[in-house]
Amino acid sequence: MATSSNSQDWLDTTLNQAQPWISRCLSKHVECRTTMHRRIPTRLVDVGPSDGSKNPFLFVPAATCSAPPEGEGLWTPIPDSSFRYLALSYCWGTQGNLMTTPENVDARRAGIAWDEIPQTIKDAVLVTRKLGFRYLWVDALCIIQGPRGDWATESPKMADVYGGAFLTISAAVSPSVHHGFHQRPESPFSTTEPRLLTEWGNPLYHRGWALQERILSRRVLIFADTGLYWECQTSDTWLYNRGGQKKLFPPIEWNIRGRLKPAEILSHVNWLRIVEDYSNRLLTLERDKLPALSGVATLYSSLTKYDYLAGLWNQTLLLDLLWIPGRSSMYLGSFDFVSPSHSQNTAPSWSWASVNRQITTFSQTVETEISKVLRAQTELKDPRAPFGEVISGSIVLRGPLVSEMEVDMQTITVVHDKWTGSAEAQQSQRKLHYMLLLIDKLGRGCGLALEGGKGEDQSCFTRIGTFTIPRDDSTLGNGAGPLAKIFKLFQDCEHTTIKII
Ligand SMILES: [Zn+2]
Repeated sequence: MATSSNSQDWLDTTLNQAQPWISRCLSKHVECRTTMHRRIPTRLVDVGPSDGSKNPFLFVPAATCSAPPEGEGLWTPIPDSSFRYLALSYCWGTQGNLMTTPENVDARRAGIAWDEIPQTIKDAVLVTRKLGFRYLWVDALCIIQGPRGDWATESPKMADVYGGAFLTISAAVSPSVHHGFHQRPESPFSTTEPRLLTEWGNPLYHRGWALQERILSRRVLIFADTGLYWECQTSDTWLYNRGGQKKLFPPIEWNIRGRLKPAEILSHVNWLRIVEDYSNRLLTLERDKLPALSGVATLYSSLTKYDYLAGLWNQTLLLDLLWIPGRSSMYLGSFDFVSPSHSQNTAPSWSWASVNRQITTFSQTVETEISKVLRAQTELKDPRAPFGEVISGSIVLRGPLVSEMEVDMQTITVVHDKWTGSAEAQQSQRKLHYMLLLIDKLGRGCGLALEGGKGEDQSCFTRIGTFTIPRDDSTLGNGAGPLAKIFKLFQDCEHTTIKII
């Protein structure tokens, strides 16, 4: 049970700051008390008594580990409203982690040797004890890992796990599970001035999985490089540390207050901002691209009743299709190329999940919809994870489609999703088509650049990028300028039905 007294003292001092935040949240914040999540996780770590006289062990509220039921079978209603658990959000790192497996799950229920526990999880256990709680959710221990584990059924439950936790402990400063919370003892609490919580000093904010863990949580206690921070649902307490309630800029951009308020999260812009932030984060496994955002998608879907399509939504599909790789490039008039990065990722070409880099979403207002979505569907890898991995997906669009032969390339700006060789090689091997989807409020035409007509199915295309036609300011004149011609080309051409995969 040995823990260095140094570390204990540090935790005592640090957590003294957290107590008033928790008390104030509990007594004053009505928003933070509400939860849509009334189920407890399949497994929890029982951290043992606060004096540390017993080791933590794996607690299984509702079933035995030897016969894990399918799907939702393990879930039970929260026994009573006083049942509370904390959750941990942290970086695994590359050095391995302490895991629960089918082989050791029974032993974990008997106890987990203290010396075996990596430092970050140890610190989370100590925080849980010191704050007076008994249960802690840690993914590596509470989900059975490995090919025979229950990752497939447990990972879709993140909206419930983090949304149902009383508090999420965020190990923002720790680059791995072995580093602990206490990284830079000299700097964090050396000032009484509130300090900005930055992304660059806190590795957790670069990780894909951590974004939804933060969004879904009701309260987050953040151990950062510049000190301890608190975040909850109430507007007057966004992020603050020592020094009181001075508002600090949140390091990620979305309306935190909207997390559990349907009226606010209903704004599609919130979803688009989350996707942009998420696309700039790192994932160890490329195939986690959709699963690591599935908790937020679950929540968004439950609020909007929209239908999910590999990171996009059926009800907003024309707009959602107009994402571009890179940061705010095309819509400001410049563009860049992407190195190829396809290995485990099987997302369809029209989904932003098919590119392995930051994207910018289309958030302009639509003036006129030009094309129509006739059908859209995805084939899920596991039907139990409707917001998780997909095997394939297709959308059927009807709209004006022109081939590159007909287009004066001076009049459109194309942004490629991926870059796989020289421009000449691209041009010689590809037969490109352009489908205009909409005219935005600024008078610009926006559409998809497609490669297609391959193989037997001449109506089957893949997305290779997007294009824009600038607003034609000459249309009030004689209408004979190049922009008027390109708009007329799309206007006059017969509408075609195509499938994009
Ligand atoms: Zn609160």
